[in-house]
Amino acid sequence: MPPGSTDHDVIIIGAGFAGLYMLHRLRGQGLSARVLEAGGGVGGTWYWNRYPGARCDVESLQYSYSFAEDLQREWTWTERYATQPEILRYLDHVADRFDLRRDIELNTRVTAASWDAPGAWVVETDGGERLSARYLVTAVGCLSAANLPRLPGSFRGPSYHTGRWPAEGVDLAGRRVAVIGTGSSGIQSIPVIAESAEHVTVFQRTPNFSVPARNGPLRPEDDQWFKANHHELRHQLRTSHSGLFTSPNPDSALAVTEEERGREFEARWERGGLAFLGAFSDLMISEEANRTAADFVRGKIRATVRDPAVADLLLPGDHPLGSKRVCVDTGYYAAYNRPDVTLADLRTAPIRELTPGGVRTADREHPVDVIVYATGFDAMTGPLLAIDIRGKGGLSLREKWRAGPRSYLGLMSAGFPNLFTITGPGSPSVLSNMIVSIEQHVDWIAECLDRLGGRALDADPLAEDAWVEQVNEIAGLTLFPRANSWYMGANIPGKPRVFMPFVGGVGVYRDICAEVAANGYQGFLRD
Ligand code: FAD
Ligand code: NAP
Repeated sequence: MPPGSTDHDVIIIGAGFAGLYMLHRLRGQGLSARVLEAGGGVGGTWYWNRYPGARCDVESLQYSYSFAEDLQREWTWTERYATQPEILRYLDHVADRFDLRRDIELNTRVTAASWDAPGAWVVETDGGERLSARYLVTAVGCLSAANLPRLPGSFRGPSYHTGRWPAEGVDLAGRRVAVIGTGSSGIQSIPVIAESAEHVTVFQRTPNFSVPARNGPLRPEDDQWFKANHHELRHQLRTSHSGLFTSPNPDSALAVTEEERGREFEARWERGGLAFLGAFSDLMISEEANRTAADFVRGKIRATVRDPAVADLLLPGDHPLGSKRVCVDTGYYAAYNRPDVTLADLRTAPIRELTPGGVRTADREHPVDVIVYATGFDAMTGPLLAIDIRGKGGLSLREKWRAGPRSYLGLMSAGFPNLFTITGPGSPSVLSNMIVSIEQHVDWIAECLDRLGGRALDADPLAEDAWVEQVNEIAGLTLFPRANSWYMGANIPGKPRVFMPFVGGVGVYRDICAEVAANGYQGFLRD
């Protein structure tokens, strides 16, 4: 296709961490790019998830961009784990600082995209606009398609999904609030909602593992240390297993005495955060090792929750610790010691219907004024398949992925030339500090486009088959597939059960991608 015959060189869908950085990179190499964003502002996750208590679960010093040294120097986080408003301020600052807004179209949802002869993507929006570009990059996020369960009956009061929280906020003071769901969003919001609500009823289907955040003001010495050692520390993150500092202990949990094991868990529990998972090297591969960590957390729940019957209901038992995203909380279990917080166990009494004044479970009606759905997302594939994407010869991505996502490196799917996916299924994405994974993908795609110089690229179906097999094989060596998790698509009725992310680690994955590029984009087909 001759240069200049499309509206843009690249169209990027989404203006979260991924889309913003992609735009900046492409501009830097002289390409024209346009970002289309469904939301009314930039920020992605941090634009949409404004529920009470929303904050990151990876420490902010690590959960931030590393690509610009000035940005790193200028910005100072106030807390160890920043709140949603602060992260959104950061992303707004990035949009202004790098003058990104002039190429971002807000309130614009992409509904369809097709690869048209003689080699361009034509994108359609909900406003009826049609735009073309030589390359299409989806930066649609892994957790941006809210999952709103269809419950029978109807409720007359307001209801809100945590991932679609109104920008103007919701006053829950003095209200009786139902929170449905006890994943990370529920666990973060319940203690905060309880502070002002008259009563909170938590509807729990599956108990989850949660570790304390131990949040607090960011200590100036930690900030200075991180800034002073920025290069080295960021390098360590990029080459680590999960893109965050977990101080991994190389020992097996089964090779030490019970006392030593207890000390290690206790020290990490006191320190707070996801580094708990680094306590021993075999927590995610040995059921027996995993049980020691799970038992430790169950012991903490029993020690925190005063009513033993409530504590029992909160004990996770149906999946290995870590096989669902471990939650990071502030005062979650202690919230059940409040007289105004009630736990409704949906395993013994499932929701039957919504009533005008509340939620009816099998055993009773729970009167509430407001319902909060903390019910998660159609993760990883949801936002991509919401778009009618058609590749070569009209091939539909929805059709191709009917039995589960298929991609090469999580970056491209065969039959969809020039379509790149940031943190797509088949890449480490949600198993990592996502900013590390996002930056790696953006850098890889930017360099690839630079080297392509306008030519087309597609994944080789054989390389794709081999990658899908490898992703499944490695997952099969771990405990991850043992849980009915959103990693497996198990939270969405009818969704194929396939373990979607690459569990081999961000450092290993980075090396694989770098080698593929160094070998002339091995496994890809060029025209
Ligand atoms: P998003 O931020 O999801 O942005 C995607 C954007 O694409 C959205 O704004 C969406 O509106 C837009 N979009 C989607 N489809 C279309 C379409 N068809 N047309 C136009 N626009 C579209 N990860 C971590 O590593 N650490 C954390 O602490 C952490 N905390 C999280 C907390 C919450 C509440 C949630 C929900 C997720 C969290 N995550 C965390 C994961 C988080 O999603 C990523 O860290 C990161 O923000 C993803 O950035 P992104 O740009 O890839 O996607
Ligand atoms: P989630 O982990 O998928 O949790 C959803 C919860 O809703 C689960 O408890 C689920 O129960 C329940 N649920 C779903 N449908 C239901 C139904 N029909 N009836 C009753 N209960 C239902 O979603 P999330 O909490 O939004 O978190 C998603 C991911 O986003 C996290 O894993 C994390 O990666 C990220 N996140 C991070 C943070 C953070 O701490 N920084 C905060 C929020 C989100 P089942 O388990 O039985 O399905």
